[in-house]
Amino acid sequence: MQHINELKDVNNVNLVVFDVDGVIVPRGAIVIERGNSIFLDLKFAPEKFIDLVKELLNYTNVAISSGRNMVTLKTIFSDLLGAESNGNIFLMQGENGGRLSYGVDEAGAGHDPEKMRLLAKLRKELRQIENEDILGYEPKESLITIHARHRIPEIEEAVIGYPHYILWNGEAYDIGQKEITKGSGLGIVKKLLEEKSGKNTFSIAIGDRQNDIDLLEQANISVSADKELLKDADYYIESSNELPGVILAEKLLKLFKETRSL
Ligand SMILES: [Mg+2]
Repeated sequence: MQHINELKDVNNVNLVVFDVDGVIVPRGAIVIERGNSIFLDLKFAPEKFIDLVKELLNYTNVAISSGRNMVTLKTIFSDLLGAESNGNIFLMQGENGGRLSYGVDEAGAGHDPEKMRLLAKLRKELRQIENEDILGYEPKESLITIHARHRIPEIEEAVIGYPHYILWNGEAYDIGQKEITKGSGLGIVKKLLEEKSGKNTFSIAIGDRQNDIDLLEQANISVSADKELLKDADYYIESSNELPGVILAEKLLKLFKETRSL
């Protein structure tokens, strides 16, 4: 793995994918249900990042790929919804690839109806678990996300026997269909872009947690925002006062300006 400063050739890049939590905004969001209410603890992307994306769109398509639900993403990134420049568009992927937004419309993520029905059954079973260290369920459509103070054995046991994956990221569990990941989401988005432009898609992606492994594997160039956890990427960005997504956006913009004319 090389330091991001070693990245020099971005000539073929026409899609940049940013993870959100830990990359564009600090980690540690709380978005949960309490009783009959839903609390959305929004963390807006820094203005600097929004401005960088608007400039990047002159050179490349830009996507964000997050575990959060689409309503939250569309709220956080409302300044970029429908943004286009020079034939490039801004895209969003929510729920770890389970929800895709292509421009201002939605695209199918490829879920299996039977596995979705089983997920609903599992959700019902999980809700029966009473444990004061469970902080709440994040509102999602195609994924179950349970925030907790630490790992909860009853939750992990309940998923045994179901065909779904369960992932603990240090602050929440994600439970969803194994075939649907940020990587499968990237594959669908690439196909849509290729149908539109007739050109091959060459992507660079950045992520910082377990739910980004598949995304980084599928990308042509991968960037780890946590080199202790995601060790197999091509490049890494060290944590500093600046968010890793901002560092990457600035770096790419500089390289595009040096090597491409508008
Ligand atoms: Mg993240």
